[in-house]
Amino acid sequence: MALYQEELSIGMRAIKKGSLLARAVAKGLLSESTLEKKDRSPVTIADYGVQTVVMSVVRSALKNAQFVAEEDSSDLQNPSNRHLLEKLEAYVQEQIPELEIASILKILQSGQHSGGTESAFWVLDPIDGTKGFIRRQQYALALAYVVNGAVVLGILACPNLPVTGHRLGGSLYYGVKGQGAYMTNLSGGSPIPIRCQNIDNPSEATFCESFESNHSSHGCSQKIAHLLGVTSPPLRMDSQCKYAAVARGEASIYLRLPTNQNYEEKIWDHAAGALIVQEAGGLIHDIKGKPLDFSLGKTLKANRGVVASCGRINHAVNDAVKNVLHDHPNP
Ligand code: AMP
Ligand code: MG
Repeated sequence: MALYQEELSIGMRAIKKGSLLARAVAKGLLSESTLEKKDRSPVTIADYGVQTVVMSVVRSALKNAQFVAEEDSSDLQNPSNRHLLEKLEAYVQEQIPELEIASILKILQSGQHSGGTESAFWVLDPIDGTKGFIRRQQYALALAYVVNGAVVLGILACPNLPVTGHRLGGSLYYGVKGQGAYMTNLSGGSPIPIRCQNIDNPSEATFCESFESNHSSHGCSQKIAHLLGVTSPPLRMDSQCKYAAVARGEASIYLRLPTNQNYEEKIWDHAAGALIVQEAGGLIHDIKGKPLDFSLGKTLKANRGVVASCGRINHAVNDAVKNVLHDHPNP
């Protein structure tokens, strides 16, 4: 049997269940399901609920599964957030009836593996693009499996991004190292193989970037686009849906250009999406042309920013990035 098929089927089951919870939360009034984390970024009941459901489904099949997961329960434990805990329990119980508040808090607190190369671990961003989720735009559930410091499996659910050619519904993407990348409807159906674009001329490229300009410099990407002769406007969206757009050939380039000298990219923001793009024939580097190194803990501390592109324009894109960021050291 091909490698990692068991992990793939368990991970898919977990992400599909997590997506049902995310959609249930999205149906309600999101302002009443949101709190602010200590770093002042927003987090919703969906972030906590998806993390609980995904970790619980994976661990019910693989008892000792280790997780590097984005959330923990510290902000939730604040007594002023008791009402949110009760709502969280209700959403989780729609998916897994036996989980009560005490076990939910325990699960949420147990996703703090330190990463690295010593053991295999799962990487989970339960709601990537929380700001997009709150705006009712794009967000993703992202799950990856890392062995010996290398990503070997990536699964991405994009509940607000329909399958190519469809108008409604969400999409699901997955890839296993060396086995290709696939897209399917989030609600079921047969997977179809996906490939990155096959263009030679960078001026035909379209690029995507963060909706939030403090996550990626829009000014620098505009200069890079200009240098490459790109004329189509950028596709701006939240979350790893950008990796999905490149992997399925809808965009040719994903630029993530640092806006803050001290920011280290988190592995959960890239592991699943990067593997899927590579399996679809794309190439991924940082802004200096170095491959992303997932073996150094919770962050990509050896890298700065991210540049993903479909294979044949890769040299031109990397050169343009170096050119612009060299002329305009950023920040
Ligand atoms: P995106 O939706 O692609 O803009 O990315 C969302 C992710 O950006 C969040 O999950 C955060 O982990 C991450 N993030 C937060 N601050 C920054 C920053 N200054 N630069 C890059 N990414 C950031
Ligand atoms: Mg994220």
